[in-house]
Amino acid sequence: MTAIGHWVGGKAVAGTSGRVAPVHDPARGVLTGEVALASAAEVDAAVATARQAAATWGASPSSRRATLMFRLRELIDTRRDDLAALVTREHGKVLDDARGEVARGLDNVEFACGIPHLLKGSHSSEVSSGIDVHTVLQPIGVVAAITPFNFPVMVPLWMLANALACGNAVVLKPSEKDPSASLLLAELVQRAGFPDGVLNVVQGDAQAGDALLAHPDVDAVSFVGSTAVARHVYETGTRHGKRVQALGGAKNHMVVLPDADVDAAADAAISAAYGSAGERCMAISVAVAVGAVADDLVAAIAARIPDVVVGPGDDPASMMGPLITAEHRDRVRSYVDGAADEGARVVVDGAAPAGDGFFVGCALLDDVKPGMRAYDDEIFGPVLSVVRVATFDEAVALVDANPYGNGVALFTRDGGAARRFEREVQVGMVGINVPIPVPVAAHSFGGWKASLFGDSSIYGPDGIRFYTRPKVVTSRWPDPASSAIDLGFPTNR
Ligand code: NAD
Repeated sequence: MTAIGHWVGGKAVAGTSGRVAPVHDPARGVLTGEVALASAAEVDAAVATARQAAATWGASPSSRRATLMFRLRELIDTRRDDLAALVTREHGKVLDDARGEVARGLDNVEFACGIPHLLKGSHSSEVSSGIDVHTVLQPIGVVAAITPFNFPVMVPLWMLANALACGNAVVLKPSEKDPSASLLLAELVQRAGFPDGVLNVVQGDAQAGDALLAHPDVDAVSFVGSTAVARHVYETGTRHGKRVQALGGAKNHMVVLPDADVDAAADAAISAAYGSAGERCMAISVAVAVGAVADDLVAAIAARIPDVVVGPGDDPASMMGPLITAEHRDRVRSYVDGAADEGARVVVDGAAPAGDGFFVGCALLDDVKPGMRAYDDEIFGPVLSVVRVATFDEAVALVDANPYGNGVALFTRDGGAARRFEREVQVGMVGINVPIPVPVAAHSFGGWKASLFGDSSIYGPDGIRFYTRPKVVTSRWPDPASSAIDLGFPTNR
């Protein structure tokens, strides 16, 4: 069994708190490691290291930071398969999907390679007689990055690529459920030549998280996880005077209009609902069938489910792996098992392969309605609910009434309907005939409503703004001959 510790000041550090948590191979249900859970004192030491490193790192030329980011890009590219294998071992997702996660994380490193351009400020010349104004973007200092279990490489890279490129030091607290990938990332950051202490990893649970939220030397917090914790992180972090962005959970709808290509919509629904066993914040968990398309859509989705091969993520034949823990498997199963009693129709019951792994098969529920548990909760598993509505307007009203607002997709051949949908729907990320509309790294990622607390989306241009503080300099170089005392309030002349 592996002992998984922290990474502080450029080297691996064993835990000293005496508290540990189990790490499993979810495909086989066996314990593979124990991760140290940091105490407040261990968090304190990591933050102190980061604070010290931030001073010189923040003053280093942006061209130097870009050079190191290019090197990091090369190292991650070379170690793609090792990172993906770690993800599959501890998270369970199939290797192909894990490689996709690494690729999407790498996109953010590539974006951050352009940091000299991204940090260009603005300049206004002669705003008043002999007066110029310029704005510079300076690092914010020490950033705490708290990440969820479902993307142990991509989400840390969403944060640390831009945070480091902007000149900050980072304390990353990954999920205690799959902690190893973050240690390999830290090692690669060090091998790329970043100074010791600019990226630190503290393993831990809520205790370490809360210590970061209250720490006086943490300047900003980037959080991704469930809505309940995101709300807590936002409220606690801001109460302690920090800049906070906290991305929460989701319930993503895919609206299928009567004119849609049913086969294309069914393929998309299968991919988006069951990919990564539904453990994606952009997974589709509700298909909204509008009008007459419903029967054909349900039949087409059900017909495809037997083709989804469920098995261990390291088996190349597998298309869908297990869930993260036995508890989560049981919770996901309870939605399928309780659906009929609530009035839904269980079309496919999600029977799992035999064995000790934490598997749930693909499940399909029809005639689901708001008020049923399967609709109201974020299930975060391979369960697709179909809600039948009569009109486009009813579909939009359903999506808008949902407390979450992360992603939504529309399937149609009607450009006018698509344009109306895109403009009206109250959701942060919209896909038109695209089931998982995760923005590329040059745009920012963020939901609305209970899917994001704070006013900043993550990565892309919002990431650069979040990890910097603007400073506005007003300057005058007067001719000494014209100098005079003037106690009036400065006005433009
Ligand atoms: P989680 O909220 O249980 O945990 C997320 C992180 O918060 C972990 O590192 C955890 O240790 C830490 N944490 C727990 N309690 C804390 C506390 N009191 N203070 C500070 N940190 C604390 O989420 P999870 O189960 O790991 O991830 C799944 C959830 O994340 C789902 O709800 C999913 O929708 C969401 N998610 C959202 C996005 C997005 O971009 N909106 C992306 C990925 C995942």
